[in-house]
Amino acid sequence: MKLAVEDLNVTFGSGQDRVDAVKDVSFGVEANTSFGLVGESGSGKSTVLRAICGLAPVASGRIAIDGRPVAGFRDPAFVKQVQMVFQDPYGSLHPRHSVDRTLSEPLAIHRMDDRHARVERALIDDVGLDASFRYRYPHQLSGGQRQRVAIARALILEPEILLLDEPTSALDASVQAEVLNLLMRLRREHELTFVMVSHDLAVINHMCERLMVMQHGETVEELNRAALADHAVGQDYTRSLLKASEGFQR
Ligand code: ADP
Ligand code: MG
Repeated sequence: MKLAVEDLNVTFGSGQDRVDAVKDVSFGVEANTSFGLVGESGSGKSTVLRAICGLAPVASGRIAIDGRPVAGFRDPAFVKQVQMVFQDPYGSLHPRHSVDRTLSEPLAIHRMDDRHARVERALIDDVGLDASFRYRYPHQLSGGQRQRVAIARALILEPEILLLDEPTSALDASVQAEVLNLLMRLRREHELTFVMVSHDLAVINHMCERLMVMQHGETVEELNRAALADHAVGQDYTRSLLKASEGFQR
């Protein structure tokens, strides 16, 4: 198992302000596969990804990568292995850093060589922008181009696992499809393991071979794509998501 999450509980605040954002969530993702987390806004999807990265207050549970537990501080080896792409391409890039700086900095921090070549490879070969983008700033880029830069930054350390938090939700529909197809190609070429979050079952169905439905911080059910195609779902809530994603049919 590439990634295993067991009995994860995440709690924000305390007393009257307490929010149990994730309740007893467990799942496993095999190497080189794509796993989806789907559910309505506020169901705890982003919190699961943040917990994996050490960015959410884990109350209890276990997270393991390649069978090795990760706990507390995420060290440089973890950061090199697991990278996250966030929903908002406007907020996730530093407004005063050029694309070159955005892509070079992780390489410098991790003391990787061949920086010039690595930046060009990530920018041109991986995400399909041309060399002229290297010296541009975020305000000179479209939403789709920004998200391509964010994806290039996530790939530049050659991680094995990519955590994708609604990576296309902020983009126009046509750009959304382009970026999803780009991600599918990158997963194949780099033999990546994906955990992808979306509120949109159609997106998860397109991208992921297995998925877990969440509601109110809890697991509703886990399914594979074949079960979804056959409408072999066990829970009414999943059925309602499926109906909504297929349009309102009678
Ligand atoms: P989703 O990604 O499915 O929309 P989230 O994981 O963002 O859901 O949020 C799950 C729940 O946790 C929500 O009720 C949200 O308000 C709460 N939550 C998330 N982050 C925080 C935080 N930093 N502080 C307090 N509550 C939070
Ligand atoms: Mg979210």
